[in-house]
Amino acid sequence: MIDYSLVYGRSLLKEDIDNELTEEIRKHFQAEPAFVISNGRKRCARCSTCSVSSKRYPCTCGNCCLYCRECIALGKVRECAQLYSLPEPNRFDAYKKPYLKWNGKLSDQQSEASGVITKSISENKELIVWAVTGSGKTEMLFKGIQIALEANKRVCIASPRIDVCLELAPRIKRVFPEIPIAVLYGGAEEGYRYTQLVIATTHQLYRFKEAFDVVIIDEVDAFPYHMNAGLHFATSRSRKRVSSLIYLTATPDKHMQERIKNNLTEAVILPARYHGHALPVPKAVYQRSELVNYKNVDQSRLIKHMKRLIGQEKRFLIFIPTIALLEKMQPLFRRIFDRATFESVHSKDADRKEKVQKMRNGELDFLATTTILERGVTFGNIDVIIWQADHHVYTEAALVQISGRAGRSKDHPEGNVTFYHQDWSRAMKKALKQIRRMNRIAHTRGLIQ
Ligand SMILES: [Zn+2]
Ligand SMILES: [Zn+2]
Repeated sequence: MIDYSLVYGRSLLKEDIDNELTEEIRKHFQAEPAFVISNGRKRCARCSTCSVSSKRYPCTCGNCCLYCRECIALGKVRECAQLYSLPEPNRFDAYKKPYLKWNGKLSDQQSEASGVITKSISENKELIVWAVTGSGKTEMLFKGIQIALEANKRVCIASPRIDVCLELAPRIKRVFPEIPIAVLYGGAEEGYRYTQLVIATTHQLYRFKEAFDVVIIDEVDAFPYHMNAGLHFATSRSRKRVSSLIYLTATPDKHMQERIKNNLTEAVILPARYHGHALPVPKAVYQRSELVNYKNVDQSRLIKHMKRLIGQEKRFLIFIPTIALLEKMQPLFRRIFDRATFESVHSKDADRKEKVQKMRNGELDFLATTTILERGVTFGNIDVIIWQADHHVYTEAALVQISGRAGRSKDHPEGNVTFYHQDWSRAMKKALKQIRRMNRIAHTRGLIQ
């Protein structure tokens, strides 16, 4: 028997589905061309960009064809290809109700936001949720998701970052234990199945078309979603014509901040952390940036600071702007902190997960890292040091996110964040301004002590 459900609300290439199904769709339904011409230019129908290969290549169709470079991670869209889809029928009647199994309590701020989110979902509206790091945004979504599921809606929670998806999936599964959830990302072991609730990386949205009644994008300002026209298009294409779209972010970009400020979009701001303590405000400390070549490096402010923390058994993260610099500083740390246990991690490090886990388990005195750990990670009781905070890799958002790693737990709501810098960057100034502003709003609203 043919399983049509695999194509409900999907947008697939021939190689994504079995032949029998492809034939059925071709016979009874319509497949759309994968390349369209608009304004005289060839455009990929899946990502809507004109990022087409510069020449034609020999193709499986026997001719030479162009292909799309933009969305190639999800399979090569060739000029001669068709995209197959079937309308989303919302066939979820078999699921048990009620769904939500959670008896945690929301803070006043969270429950207010939860109400706004639920309303946007019920009324098929768009909403931006600007929630500071550590405000507990996942919990605020539960009620809205529950309402959507009850209304037989199909829901997708997407994030540009795999680690966010991987952290979200077990939490969502735990509170909706009766609802099957497909978790989709590049390299996932589990294949696609038709489910009412989907957790996916934003790249996976290229494979959907008018599938979802609710799309929630978590960490909307993160790479690679930010400024990526293809992924933005994929998001809007994955939604039904009547649907709601919720953006979650702790650090909206300038454009989004402006839209919020000028009331051009529905938005809700959560300026306080769930534990009711203010966000740590980073302290800026001057330090010449060529530390490695210092004669009296042991006497530098940074090293003295690190020694003090190790002596106090206060664990910390030290952020270093580039892999090259991290590798340069590592031997220096080995020499100076010969009795401390520490590791360093970066994006190309195969043992990244294990090292992060070690830090989580309290087995390390400190962890040196590039911006790879700027978001999505939570450690209990830590301080944060940013080395060369004026380096251009640190954007306003990155600095706010990194600072947000400190003071997250209820038992240790205070953590110190230090920017070591030689110059003042615009991003540093703006990050400080943003953190102070959020604390001020939280204070005015009576949300923090
Ligand atoms: Zn494309
Ligand atoms: Zn071809």
